[in-house]
Amino acid sequence: MMKEIDNKAQNLHSIYFASLQLGDLLQLNKIDMWCNDGVCYARVELPSIASNLVTLTISSLREMVNAPTAPSKFIHLKHLCIHLGGVKLSPAYDYFFLASFIDASPSLETFSLNLPQEPMEDGWGFGCSSDLRQMPQYRHHNFQSFEITGFGSAKSLVELTCYILESTTSLQCVTLDTTLLGAFKCSESKSKKCFSVTRGTIIEVQKALLAIKTYIKKKVPATVQLTVVEPCRLCHASEL
Ligand SMILES: [Zn+2]
Repeated sequence: MMKEIDNKAQNLHSIYFASLQLGDLLQLNKIDMWCNDGVCYARVELPSIASNLVTLTISSLREMVNAPTAPSKFIHLKHLCIHLGGVKLSPAYDYFFLASFIDASPSLETFSLNLPQEPMEDGWGFGCSSDLRQMPQYRHHNFQSFEITGFGSAKSLVELTCYILESTTSLQCVTLDTTLLGAFKCSESKSKKCFSVTRGTIIEVQKALLAIKTYIKKKVPATVQLTVVEPCRLCHASEL
């Protein structure tokens, strides 16, 4: 039933917690959190109570509101990982608002986002690039690596990806993985097949690949290595 920790451990650098209200965490440089609405909580609360954070991992159980924009900054944050796989997301969840984390983190070097590999039905038809939303851009000079696992065709996800590509001058590699995080792959063992997927998932993957081709590839600078991971063509030959 514990609801709050009053931390007196001055040399504590790293913490894992779930569903707690936290007090002053100024000395922490690494937090691994797992709780309801973790993305929203982290964006609003952590910059002020954990301003020396360098590594932040958020594993959310549900997200009912979008990541808020806020003036507070993660001045020292270098590594950000957000797990939303298997999470109950609001039907209107907007991935584009995750750019709020990017803009609040001038020292950010790596960002990974893990998503559920489910059909993303937000009803947009692919049109011209001017249909995509934009926002004022902070120019990032430290951001090197960006990865999305479970990449899908949602418009807000394409917008987030384009935003990162256009706002960073130091990017080295981008990985857009259309498969599920942790799904078994035959390349790991010659005797077995890849994790089976539904027809709906294959259709979603095809839409995601089309979105990458239509909107994202042309925004990838020549100096950036883009890796697109597709389902194995050996095991899913009949569906692809
Ligand atoms: Zn395979």
